[in-house]
Amino acid sequence: AQAPVYNRIALIGLGLIASSMFWAIQRGGLAGEVTGYARSQATRDTARRIGLTDRVCDTAAEAVAGADLVVLAVPVGAMAAVAAEIAPHLAKGATVTDVGSVKRSVIESVGPHLPEGVHFIPGHPLAGTEHSGPESGFATLFDNRWCLLVPVEGTDPQATARLRALWEGIGSNVEEMDADHHDLVLAVTSHTPHLIAYTMVGVADDLGRVTDGEVIKYSAAGFRDFTRIAASDPTMWRDVFLTNKDATLEILGRFTEELFALQRAIRTGDGDHLFDYFTRTRAIRRGII
Ligand code: NAD
Repeated sequence: AQAPVYNRIALIGLGLIASSMFWAIQRGGLAGEVTGYARSQATRDTARRIGLTDRVCDTAAEAVAGADLVVLAVPVGAMAAVAAEIAPHLAKGATVTDVGSVKRSVIESVGPHLPEGVHFIPGHPLAGTEHSGPESGFATLFDNRWCLLVPVEGTDPQATARLRALWEGIGSNVEEMDADHHDLVLAVTSHTPHLIAYTMVGVADDLGRVTDGEVIKYSAAGFRDFTRIAASDPTMWRDVFLTNKDATLEILGRFTEELFALQRAIRTGDGDHLFDYFTRTRAIRRGII
């Protein structure tokens, strides 16, 4: 175990990400104490039963009292309400961070609620599964994965260095990134691919009704991977698209243009177009592996 990075960490929201953080923090001895709060009584009961956090609190105010780090681990659309709820109870000099999948909207919705003297350092661990809830977490989720920190203007470098040390203790590689750049990159690498998976599974499901389940029965690797991705939490992903609207619309627009070009090539029998396109994308894969 390493030296604790924080005396008391409060985890707000006890789902996949927060529970994985707790098990990793515990593994590394990275905090003196970890408190936890979730909105639903059922989640708090489960957390107490499985020992998720050292102290499960019945209010967010109680959980953040005296904490030197507060982690907002709720869906992006719930961040503002949670920030408003905890703001009056934050300790002076505390750091507030989040793990939301979109960064510009979190900065705009959480930042204004936080009092003077509190450090706000948004973050996003690039790790997850299609599972959700307090029992879905595990200590190794963040090992050798990226965690992106998005310090806002005027952020204290020492507070950022401390949060970086926590994520490194959790097992991640940390990089700093501007919020808008983050949102565009994630629209390409994560958000739009999820939308494509949701769409493909929806199309197959419509077809499946027609052909009596055949599509699912004979689904091989490619489609099976789509069904896994499309099983991700609906609340979380609804919020991602509502809050990363501009970047996902930009990438979807480009995607749709390319798809129409390929559709036209198929219709007109333009084998050269298809071959050249697939040759280019194959070379990209070979360049990154
Ligand atoms: P989850 O559904 O497993 O957990 C969310 C938790 O927040 C639950 O405990 C839920 O009860 C609680 N919650 C919801 N609304 C609340 C509210 N208004 N007040 C208090 N608690 C509330 O979700 P997760 O996968 O842990 O995602 C949490 C955050 O992490 C999201 O912002 C998501 O965008 C981000 N994230 C998710 C992944 C992933 O792959 N799942 C990866 C990186 C980041």
